[in-house]
Amino acid sequence: MKKACVSMATAFVLVAGSSLASDVQWGYSGDGGPEHWGKLDPAFEMCAKGVNQSPINLTGFIEAELEPIAFHYTGLATEVVNNGHTIQVNYTAGSTIQVVGKTFELKQFHFHSPSENTINNESFPMEGHFVHAAQDGSLAVVGVMYTVGDENEGIKKVWKQMPAKGGEKAAMASQVKAETLLPQEQGYYRFNGSLTTPPCSEGVLWMVMKQSVTVSKEQVDAFVHVMHHPNNRPVQPLNARPILQ
Ligand SMILES: [Zn+2]
Repeated sequence: MKKACVSMATAFVLVAGSSLASDVQWGYSGDGGPEHWGKLDPAFEMCAKGVNQSPINLTGFIEAELEPIAFHYTGLATEVVNNGHTIQVNYTAGSTIQVVGKTFELKQFHFHSPSENTINNESFPMEGHFVHAAQDGSLAVVGVMYTVGDENEGIKKVWKQMPAKGGEKAAMASQVKAETLLPQEQGYYRFNGSLTTPPCSEGVLWMVMKQSVTVSKEQVDAFVHVMHHPNNRPVQPLNARPILQ
């Protein structure tokens, strides 16, 4: 009992089986790599059979005069988790976006390096995914591309708390607001897609911001160092999907 109390008092505590719905080990290379995800578990079959999979190369845009995404971010990051696949920042309840006539609540944001989506075949050093859920359970992800330039203050605060090992998490010691990781300009691309990790569920509303945000080279390097490997699923066939702008 004493030992448990001691470990609870430390900054990092083990994530007790919280992140993996399945025990199947998947990753980004080898036998557990993206080309095998669909066969690793029956629950992952959409990774192989889906026709609206993410990520994609964004190209061939259709002009649609998209409404602005109405961001009502009021919350703060609560904890940062290294789940072995990404660095994920969980968020307090109550921050929402309104788009396509629905309200979606921000649940978490996390990162990929290099970017998962590409724009006109251009890959970016890092991509952030801001994951939102509506009351009916449907998901909306806002994607943000990060280019190398000035250091990002929000990323700086998150990285300071970033656990070095998979399966660890840390409470956020300093206030991190998700909006500090978003671009100033509101233009975006919209399309239907999926989760980019198993089980690759479809029906996800994707919005990738047109304007990128800068992070320093050191910030990209620090993320890659903690992940030990690229954590981007390769781009998937676009098939019949339109990409609106
Ligand atoms: Zn993601």
